[in-house]
Amino acid sequence: MSETPNRGHQAGPGGRTTPDNGLPRAVLDRFASGLRGRLIRPEDPDYETARAVWNGMIDRRPALVARCRGEDDVVASVNFARDNSLPLAVRGGGHGVGGQAVCDGGLVVDLSEMTDLDVRPEGLTARAQGGCTLGDLDRATQRHGLAAPVGVVSATGIAGLTLSGGMGWLRRKYGLSCDNLVSASVVTAEGALLTASGSVNQDLFWAIRGGGGNFGVVTSFEYRLYPVGPRVFLCTVYYPLERVEEVLRACERYVAESPEEAAPLVVLGRIPQAEEFPAAAHGEPFAAVLAVSPGAGETAAEEGERALRPLRKIAEPLCDLSEAVPYTEGQKFLDDDYPDGRLYYWKSVNAPELSDKLIARLTEHAAAAPSPDSTIDVWYQGGAMARVDEQETAFANRGVPYLFGIEGNWDREADSERNVAWVRDTFADLRHFSTGGVYLNFPGFLEEGEQLLREGYGSNYDRLSEIKAKYDPGNLLRFNANITPKG
Ligand SMILES: Cc1cc2nc3c(=O)[nH]c(=O)nc-3n(C[C@H](O)[C@H](O)[C@H](O)COP(=O)(O)OP(=O)(O)OC[C@H]3O[C@@H](n4cnc5c(N)ncnc54)[C@H](O)[C@@H]3O)c2cc1C
Repeated sequence: MSETPNRGHQAGPGGRTTPDNGLPRAVLDRFASGLRGRLIRPEDPDYETARAVWNGMIDRRPALVARCRGEDDVVASVNFARDNSLPLAVRGGGHGVGGQAVCDGGLVVDLSEMTDLDVRPEGLTARAQGGCTLGDLDRATQRHGLAAPVGVVSATGIAGLTLSGGMGWLRRKYGLSCDNLVSASVVTAEGALLTASGSVNQDLFWAIRGGGGNFGVVTSFEYRLYPVGPRVFLCTVYYPLERVEEVLRACERYVAESPEEAAPLVVLGRIPQAEEFPAAAHGEPFAAVLAVSPGAGETAAEEGERALRPLRKIAEPLCDLSEAVPYTEGQKFLDDDYPDGRLYYWKSVNAPELSDKLIARLTEHAAAAPSPDSTIDVWYQGGAMARVDEQETAFANRGVPYLFGIEGNWDREADSERNVAWVRDTFADLRHFSTGGVYLNFPGFLEEGEQLLREGYGSNYDRLSEIKAKYDPGNLLRFNANITPKG
């Protein structure tokens, strides 16, 4: 599986043949008429939008897209794909970086219209259907002054994010999204609708907390919630790149000492030509410190400002856009940097320490990025996410203190080769500083294949492989960070 562009590899409209599923029309019509949602086929006017995903590098042509409207539709679609030997892909929010939510010539189970939400403030839980975005969940929970720990860009789907971890501003205080899963409804490859929780189908519940989409189609997720906001402090301070060592070291000290467990993200990039940034800083290379205070109550933003102040005093900044904001706004601060349909190529590397040599390499690679919109991100981990035992959920490599995201983000297809090369070279070099492991939600495994994928699952791989054999022995669910069924 590759996340390199496959434009022109298949045929379709404009010189390309329509994917042919080889099934008689009457069979397809019968399937379509049994769905509450729509079955979208290549001849339908909205086929092009139905097959498009967030990453413009991905250009796959499924034979059918089943826009499900409920669990019955998901069961019917899984059964149809299996019984007719069609490849099956599963789409939650469509923000999977490798684009595995769509597959060539197969059936896409598309959950994007399954967005019901039920918040239970008295029990501090929320149940969200598998098509919800982080923004949907945040909006609903914040009406009650609550939040589930999710990621940092609001258009991302809860489904893919949670199944492979889920890391955001609350990760150090409250853990990963998957750590806060209370239960889930799962349609297995056999078409059975199961509940997975700490008391029912515990093996399945263990596996879906880090094992990705390997075990079934998750139709809804029940999360544990925490009081957060309603206003929080958003730290967004941009230092000159030449101060990066001080910035990284200051953040290192901060997380070691911070009782509040804020979770800094240091981004190495270049200031965009956007009006919120001072014109004099446009184009300047930066090392930015981003964080959201995780507190709750009327004084949360004020206390957050005090707690995050040390991160804003590291050196003379190029600019400081920090402010008190509603939590839902803090959750959207990065949204504009990731529009749909742009060209993206990302990888990730774990690291056990920030050596001087590593910092020097990070700086050189960041400065060499061919696109001004590409970044290297340093995620400070630890806190609550590291306090969960490695074997308690399928999510692996919890104790690693640093995760680097290498993000190639650019606009023109003509620039693809050198941007992809920059990500690959940076990745290969930073791997020398890693003791192993990648974050499977920021693919670093696709072209490298089995070895990195196994590193992503770490010591949990063998157990995952056994559970895969129980719930999906034929590997129907294989467009994901795929686990081979044991035996
Ligand atoms: C702009 C952007 C920002 C991001 N920020 C963060 C972040 O802050 N923190 C973080 O941890 N990650 C982040 N990610 C990574 C993100 O978690 C993954 O890309 C994730 O896969 C997105 O989930 P999705 O449902 O939108 O994707 P999709 O493309 O719909 O799904 C990805 C894969 O998940 C599986 N899947 C999806 N839905 C289901 C389902 N209902 N049942 C079973 N399997 C399913 C399938 O295998 C599918 O191929 C970000 C990604 C993007 C593009």
